[in-house]
Amino acid sequence: MLRIAIIGGGISGLSAAFTLEKSRRGGALLDYVLYESGPRLGGVLLTERSNGCIFEAGPDSFLTEKPWARELCRELGLEDQLVPSNDAERKTYILKKGRLVEIPDGLLFLVPTKILPTLWSPLFSARTKLRMALEWFHPPRKSSQDESVAAMVERHYGREMVDGLADPLLSGVYGGEASQLSVQAVLPRLVEMEATYGSLGRAMLAARKQAASANRRPARPLFTALKEGMQQMVDAVLSRLPPTSLRLRTEVQAVERQDAGWMVSTPPRSEQFDGVIVATPAPVAAGLLRGTSAPLGEELLGIPYTSSITVNLVYDQAVRTWLPPGFGFLVPASEGRRILAATFVHNKFPYRAPEDRALLRCFIGGARNEILFALSDEEIVEIASQELEQIMGLRADPLSARLYRWKSAMAQYGVSHLERLARIDNLLSPLPSLALAGNAYRGIGVPDCIRTGHEAARKLLSFLGLAAKTAPAATDAP
Ligand SMILES: Cc1cc2nc3c(=O)[nH]c(=O)nc-3n(C[C@H](O)[C@H](O)[C@H](O)COP(=O)(O)OP(=O)(O)OC[C@H]3O[C@@H](n4cnc5c(N)ncnc54)[C@H](O)[C@@H]3O)c2cc1C
Repeated sequence: MLRIAIIGGGISGLSAAFTLEKSRRGGALLDYVLYESGPRLGGVLLTERSNGCIFEAGPDSFLTEKPWARELCRELGLEDQLVPSNDAERKTYILKKGRLVEIPDGLLFLVPTKILPTLWSPLFSARTKLRMALEWFHPPRKSSQDESVAAMVERHYGREMVDGLADPLLSGVYGGEASQLSVQAVLPRLVEMEATYGSLGRAMLAARKQAASANRRPARPLFTALKEGMQQMVDAVLSRLPPTSLRLRTEVQAVERQDAGWMVSTPPRSEQFDGVIVATPAPVAAGLLRGTSAPLGEELLGIPYTSSITVNLVYDQAVRTWLPPGFGFLVPASEGRRILAATFVHNKFPYRAPEDRALLRCFIGGARNEILFALSDEEIVEIASQELEQIMGLRADPLSARLYRWKSAMAQYGVSHLERLARIDNLLSPLPSLALAGNAYRGIGVPDCIRTGHEAARKLLSFLGLAAKTAPAATDAP
């Protein structure tokens, strides 16, 4: 019987376990153990319910375009539980000089593709609008050198576009800054477009035309959520895994090579395995693997993380009626606020709140605000309420509030991240029975994390000669 350890019980580790479980049910002589240091599985995926409201502590949905989360849900029998974002209501605002301004229609991945809405938008100055027109003639870029998202956006559209749009959009997704994030890792599509067309505007229009003629299916929603929240995905995976494979409240403290396998230490115990999947945040992986390969530990430690706090606030019917339409707003750093973004949850997805309640979710923190972690829950709720009043004029007190702190949970793909990943792959090549999964590598969203979990499991199954045995879908409880 071959044995595999999975370290970390977030969605990446759970996806790896799900793939191994399918293989085990398909007849592979395989035993696996999933170690999780916390008291529950799911990592940052956590949903709580209160008085008919659904509070998402971490992610509230996933990008529909990336298939891996949808596919996992289908395999788990959750297809009828998937709910689309209300894209008819899809308006997002940006705070500009203390006022919420709607992002103009036709902006795709930071690229303006519709002339009139952009021309009329008060979001951009006349100078930036002129830059947008001239961008049409931008020459293709010859260099393959990575740069920051800010550098690329500035070359095409000028500084105002970086501060007013790129930065708040990225801090809403990564909690990071456009000047720090790698364009090759975060927006690879724009890099390809620039190399081929020069102008991002022309490239985006060409891509849209091509997609429209190739694909006559109805447009997919931008985001997909689950009726009862993201926790549904975690619970459904767990119902497929044998409880004997799961070790909660068990922090792995060391992973060491031993003979042809690995020794996983959870003092006072140690267990021997033939393969190991490390699905923890990269700094933890660095600590666990430094003894095996110091250079690998150094590379993993070099991937920075930011923290965030999500604050769910429930308001009454009057607030729901009063709020502007749309999904919510983003806040550029130049506005000097602590809220990075706020979602009008009851507008974005169905089934999130009763008809007579408004549910707002604020994001606080990011690279600039780590200091807020020292504050109490009450102080943070007070900050969120005060800033909602200053930004939107929302004077009502919330009926209830629930906040969640995620310390160092979001990986930041810095400039040259892809080069670092190539070095990590090289360092892993003499260690075929070791695999990494998680949000530190090739995508921080839930779908990419699921993909990395599946890939890590498949790598080990293949190395251990177990790849052929996989049941079609693990549908029954064990
Ligand atoms: C606030 C927030 C909002 C987000 N919103 C979205 C969104 O809307 N859509 C989207 O697609 N993505 C979103 N993301 C990103 C996405 O949710 C995460 O990148 C992804 O869920 C990370 O999963 P993971 O399993 O790699 O890591 P984690 O969820 O961090 O799990 C890692 C696990 O490892 C465990 N662990 C750590 N050390 C050890 C150890 N020594 N031994 C054993 N276990 C250990 C931890 O306890 C944890 O459970 C969001 C993230 C956050 C924080």
